[in-house]
Amino acid sequence: MSADLVSQVQQRFGLYLHIPFCRSICHYCDFAKTANFTQDHVTAYMDLLERQLDWFLNSEQGARQKFTSIFLGGGTPGMLSREYEGIFRKLKNHIAPDCEISIETNPEDIQPDILAQWHDLGINRISMGVQTFQERGLEVLTRNHGSIKAQRAIEEVLKVFSNLNIDLIYGWPDQSVQQWRQDLEQAAVLGVPHLSLYNLTYEAGTPLNRKKDRGMLQDVADEHLESLYQTAMMTLSGPWIHDEVSNWSLPGFSCKHNWLYWQDSHYLGLGCGAHGYLPVGEVGLRYAFPKQLRTYLRAGEGFVDADITSLEEFLISHGASIDEGRTLSDWLLELIGCSLRSRKGVPVNEIEKLLKCKFEPGKILQTGIDMGLVKLEKGQLYLEPSEWFRETSWATELVMAFES
Ligand code: SF4
Repeated sequence: MSADLVSQVQQRFGLYLHIPFCRSICHYCDFAKTANFTQDHVTAYMDLLERQLDWFLNSEQGARQKFTSIFLGGGTPGMLSREYEGIFRKLKNHIAPDCEISIETNPEDIQPDILAQWHDLGINRISMGVQTFQERGLEVLTRNHGSIKAQRAIEEVLKVFSNLNIDLIYGWPDQSVQQWRQDLEQAAVLGVPHLSLYNLTYEAGTPLNRKKDRGMLQDVADEHLESLYQTAMMTLSGPWIHDEVSNWSLPGFSCKHNWLYWQDSHYLGLGCGAHGYLPVGEVGLRYAFPKQLRTYLRAGEGFVDADITSLEEFLISHGASIDEGRTLSDWLLELIGCSLRSRKGVPVNEIEKLLKCKFEPGKILQTGIDMGLVKLEKGQLYLEPSEWFRETSWATELVMAFES
């Protein structure tokens, strides 16, 4: 990597910890999660995470690392609080000043004493799965909470934490544009400073997908999805900053951890189903842990750290699959894919330096530039936010422009 890109990437290093436990399973969910667990599973899992973290923080690479953002994702990490004490004790000397520390939770988990415990641990950002304020939508999405509960939970969180994200889902069957606008306006009225908006996808193997296959749910037309997205763009104007295709923030509340992913920075990921991206070799090391809780726990059982000397050995010994044989072209595609949908855009000059090539837009890309859909300023390339929805086709054009 070029010196500029390297230093930018090295300034940030994140930690992602996946907590797979949920009270019940939402029918659309494709994350690594389980509602079939005992307290023994929780204890064994947290113990394994602590041992893994310990190994990393005492390794040659980890000993000097300070995390600039930490994200407890799931599953429902918000089901736990004191269980994180051991992890935060280990992290004590590895947290950078101004580190953003987020926890994902659901409205039904919010209680004043739990909020106080998270605060005492050093957590400073809450991300809550609200999904919609419409009772019909909550029913279709098989969520555990009602609309009033979600509103009360937001009010409770904002008494303790100013930095709150809520996830909202659009495109659930029969959702109208009006209902979607109400959801967005409701979030704004409640004072939520960060929104992640996702369209409902029907993932293979989920109960929701089976219902659709049996004709029990009606598919949503692409045009309707696009009009819901346009509604979000129009409703969230004014002070809202459109950070990335799915994320909006008020000034000062952009999510640091998200920017790691959108700018190809490195992070350690631990936990079942967790992915990671470490600064190893020319193009970094990408890996993923097994998604099933029991497989992950079994893989960690035989871990004897005395025999492990490299990060690769450590990951493999815990059942991780490593993305072998990544090339500079793979890296380029990843970098363009993740940064093209964000307001900070693609670092064209840096890529030119790194690949020792010249950026030469082809016909389609040049037309996009001429029409103002694509902007090239000070060595950065940006897509107009209205085009972020079509990022995949622009990414292909962009990769070709570097290969010419
Ligand atoms: S609470 Fe979140 S992680 Fe758990 S099943 Fe529902 S959507 Fe999935």
